[in-house]
Amino acid sequence: MDLTQEVKKRVLEGEMDLVGVTSPESLKDAPEGRRPADILPTAKSVVVAAVHVLDSVYDLPYTRYEYTNQFFILNSMLNSMAFKVSRYLESQGYRTLPIPAAYPRVNKEIFGILSHRHAAVQAGLGEMALNNLLTTPQFGSRIRLVSIVTEAALEADPPFEENLCLKTRTECQLACVKNCPVLAISEEGLIDKTKCLHYQEQIMPWSAAELRCGVCIASCPIGENKWKIPAGSRAQKVVEMKELWTGAKW
Ligand code: SF4
Ligand code: SF4
Repeated sequence: MDLTQEVKKRVLEGEMDLVGVTSPESLKDAPEGRRPADILPTAKSVVVAAVHVLDSVYDLPYTRYEYTNQFFILNSMLNSMAFKVSRYLESQGYRTLPIPAAYPRVNKEIFGILSHRHAAVQAGLGEMALNNLLTTPQFGSRIRLVSIVTEAALEADPPFEENLCLKTRTECQLACVKNCPVLAISEEGLIDKTKCLHYQEQIMPWSAAELRCGVCIASCPIGENKWKIPAGSRAQKVVEMKELWTGAKW
């Protein structure tokens, strides 16, 4: 088995659902400091892996605590797999850096040192949809991502080229835009990350837990999504659940 296949096999054995490879050149237009070569100057490949979050936890807002729980559990799984594959590549003589699934943020800005989403598009996993998230044919945006930057010259996959989101907009009625509790997503596909984060960290802490929102993800019908939230259908329910959990009127 060649090295590319061996790496992909190890990724999938780490309980991942999707894996692809791209080259550092495909990400050369990323902002300075966030390109693979800025992280590892001798990089020759970027491996991207995705794990599918349980569909059941997207029956939001009822399932918000378990959705949040999985967010952190899956980040650990992704980081653990990336560490093991990096250790294997290092044992073969290649400097290799796992890029964390979520943190650290750079200079308190709301993005990481390498965009897993952009790398995943180039590695053929999916597209950037209107919700600004990596959206896959198999699981929509109900995934978490991690990347590995390595000196190993692996065979790159073709970039993803379908227009899943555009083809689905008549069906979804822009549910991700309409259902966002703070209207952080515009119809043009711009996202106000500050608003989104403020909602999750300042407004939504209905308990001591650091809750995650995920309504835009749960709203998207791409991939089989049994518990999707149709446009406008759950907004009142979110308010009721807040009142139930906090004992306060909102
Ligand atoms: S996670 Fe929630 S607040 Fe953030 S963009 Fe999606 S729906 Fe809006
Ligand atoms: S809900 Fe509709 S507009 Fe939003 S990402 Fe999904 S398909 Fe695109």
